[in-house]
Amino acid sequence: MPSHPIVQLNRFEFRRIRAGHPWVYERSIASIPDELQDGTLVSVQGPRQEQLGTAIYNASSKIRLRIVDPRIDIALDSAFFAERLSRALEYRRQLLPRRTCFRLISAESDGLSGLIIDCYEAATLFQITSVGIERHKDALISAIHDVLKPAILIERNDVPNRKWEGLTQIRKIHCDGGSSEAELRDYPIQLEGTRYQLNLIEGNKTGLYLDQIDNHQRLRALLAAYPAPRVLDCFSYIGGFSLAAAMADPQAKVIGIDQSAECIDKARHNAALNEVESQTEFIQSNVFEWLRTQSESDSALGSFDCIILDPPSFTKNRHTIDGAIRGYKELHVRALKLLRSGGLLLTYSCSHHISEDLLRSIAFEAALDTHTHLVELESQRQSLDHPVVPHIPESYYLKGFVYRKQ
Ligand code: SAH
Repeated sequence: MPSHPIVQLNRFEFRRIRAGHPWVYERSIASIPDELQDGTLVSVQGPRQEQLGTAIYNASSKIRLRIVDPRIDIALDSAFFAERLSRALEYRRQLLPRRTCFRLISAESDGLSGLIIDCYEAATLFQITSVGIERHKDALISAIHDVLKPAILIERNDVPNRKWEGLTQIRKIHCDGGSSEAELRDYPIQLEGTRYQLNLIEGNKTGLYLDQIDNHQRLRALLAAYPAPRVLDCFSYIGGFSLAAAMADPQAKVIGIDQSAECIDKARHNAALNEVESQTEFIQSNVFEWLRTQSESDSALGSFDCIILDPPSFTKNRHTIDGAIRGYKELHVRALKLLRSGGLLLTYSCSHHISEDLLRSIAFEAALDTHTHLVELESQRQSLDHPVVPHIPESYYLKGFVYRKQ
């Protein structure tokens, strides 16, 4: 049994930490041994020596400690990772039994702060954003092989937020399952009846916004009430909502807008794979500019039966929130002008700093500005493979509403 150095906490935010939130900031630390190296495993104790578990220490990160297990003196070996992976797999198999593509490890929500693992049929991709997991990468990779046996394993450690932990960016194909690099950039999958080609090497996230898959499905169902719908998908990425809308009704006509040429290319390709290319038009443009031009042309006003707003997170912190709110508000105002009365507005925010209430109030303010009435039909959230755990509020990040314009 290893015996880890002991770090003692003060009372600051102790309730949050004791309740199981794994992040400990410097202000909560009462005492810490000298010269601890980044990535060292430590035992965490409360102000009265309460045992809080095993954590990873990192002086280079604002999150000084990430608690990985409520037991003390735990080792981050392949057995530890294999147990976490197996538990996460059991959850997905139970709740999403038909899915062959899913997020297997959603960081804190699956007890592994700083780790994402996504599975796309025979391919597994992982992304590490904490020094502690990085230090134990060999054990993690060995556990991935044992539990998942992937033909293809890709390390997508290419996200900018690695620098907050003092980590550099790396992209590596650990095993290619006989696929060339070009094939991994056009990797075919099928998800809930929709075919996609994903760029596993460079695509956003690890190729797909898996967190929106349930909401794509829900759109198909909602459109049943709109024969031959005209649908506008803003921030369409590689076609998620657009394909769902086109496949909902052979008479549907869909416009998808995204500023990335590569995404537009992939979206067109995915439309062809699903035999809906004649129903879809993908336009490379800045959504703000496109909506501005359209909403100033009388012929476009009220011309859509359904509009989807799924922008990137405009704010990663509290300081830029005002700008983000202005951005969201403008999107809603323009979209409401282009929506016909009786039409559907689906709106999402993936920023933790835009709460459900704030998103709702932005939509209602836009309704006031445009003299429209909205009815909130339902609220939505991230798919089940991105679990929301109540004691970690950050785990609930993607929220959405479906409104009907009266
Ligand atoms: N709706 C998608 C995911 C959208 S991700 C799905 O369900 O799969 C956000 C997308 O917005 C990215 O593809 C990015 O290229 C695009 N984007 C970001 N800012 C943009 C802007 N100002 N105008 C158009 N597209 C933008």
